[in-house]
Amino acid sequence: MTLETAYIAPMDAGQSGADARTLLLLAALAGTLAMPLIFNAAFYRVLREPFVIWHSVLTLSLLATIVVTSGVAVILFDPGAMTLSWITTLLFGTAVAAGAMFTCGFIEPELMHPLLRRLLPLCAAWAVILSGFHAAFPFLARPVQSSVYTAAFAPVLAVFLISQLDALRRGSRAAKFQAIGYAPMIAVGLIRLVSGVVPWLPSTDAMLLFYIGCIAEVLFTTLGMADRFLTIKRDRDRARTEAALLQRLSETDPLTGLLNRRAIERQFEQLRAEGFASLAIIDLDHFKSINDVNGHGVGDAVLKATAGALQSDRDLRAYRLGGEEFVLLLRGSDAAIAAEARRQAIPLMVASAVPSLGRPVTASMGLTAFAEEEDFSEPYERADKLLYQAKSAGRDRTRSAMIHTAAQDAMPTGRAVAA
Ligand code: GH3
Ligand code: MG
Ligand code: MG
Repeated sequence: MTLETAYIAPMDAGQSGADARTLLLLAALAGTLAMPLIFNAAFYRVLREPFVIWHSVLTLSLLATIVVTSGVAVILFDPGAMTLSWITTLLFGTAVAAGAMFTCGFIEPELMHPLLRRLLPLCAAWAVILSGFHAAFPFLARPVQSSVYTAAFAPVLAVFLISQLDALRRGSRAAKFQAIGYAPMIAVGLIRLVSGVVPWLPSTDAMLLFYIGCIAEVLFTTLGMADRFLTIKRDRDRARTEAALLQRLSETDPLTGLLNRRAIERQFEQLRAEGFASLAIIDLDHFKSINDVNGHGVGDAVLKATAGALQSDRDLRAYRLGGEEFVLLLRGSDAAIAAEARRQAIPLMVASAVPSLGRPVTASMGLTAFAEEEDFSEPYERADKLLYQAKSAGRDRTRSAMIHTAAQDAMPTGRAVAA
């Protein structure tokens, strides 16, 4: 169409005041399209979605289209008329393809009919093939080619319009932003289609409306992306909070509120790196008989009171592994003293929480130090053996093997530390 309306002008036509002002205005409009590109780069850092890239391709091709078709390119590079023609054709195909791919990803996944979602990439491919062919062989079917080429975009426009309407009908927010942004561009498409195909109408490419359309399209879809960005970020934050909550729940023992085995296994490496180097297993003595004599409810109260005696602090973490078995992870030179103090606090704590018991509830403990490279299961097995020794030696005592640090070696090892 540009070629159809081309005419020979005097050399200085571009320098006349009015033309220069128009060109400046168009250059400024083109400049506004640089902004969304910067936004897109920022969005993409957080939102690794292909539609952000397609939006950049679309923006770049529209920017290039304004530069090439407005005459700004003529002033900058002075390309030949045929060069301008095929560049414009390719840019149009790229813009349509990028627009289709952008729509395909940008509309919320559940708010577009699956068939349309499959058709849009086909439309994109069709647009690229069409424009590539038309740019490469502009004179193959000279009298009708321009009309056939224009008409061949009709299905693309139809799929595009239907997907917009369909997404709007399904309540898509993205489609609302797009519909406003694309309105001038869709009008341009219709004007070009009708004026290009209907024989008795002079064909027009509605360039001014097209430029306005480029800007409107990019600005509104950028706003839409910002909106989408906030929605996705909000959803992601909510999912993260929920995941963290679920993790806490799955790692917490509901009866005592202590962390469970899953938590130790996840935290062990980290705690080891933070200097935790001792592990104790504490097991209540003759707990089964408490259940048998006083009932399960009293047994539960004893377990809760025991957890109360094992409060965590900066240098001590308490876990319930199951049944009446608890694990402590400790750090610092007085780890053995701290663990022993917790064990000995159990009878008092239980007596005050469950006065009806009528007999002291004691606990036995196996305590071991562990080395940098050990994982949880190794010191756990050692402590379990030591616990077994403490039980066979008469219960209510500790067996320890604090072999790894000088300070810990100074602690009594291998003998009962009786209450
Ligand atoms: P020992 O001194 O050798 O450790 O003997 P014990 O009776 O403490 O140990 P045993 O392993 O024979 O019994 C543990 C009991 O703990 C058996 C089980 O019914 C009880 N138990 C396990 N989990 C719970 C619980 O959540 N609540 C209550 N009330 N009892 C529990
Ligand atoms: Mg026991
Ligand atoms: Mg046990």
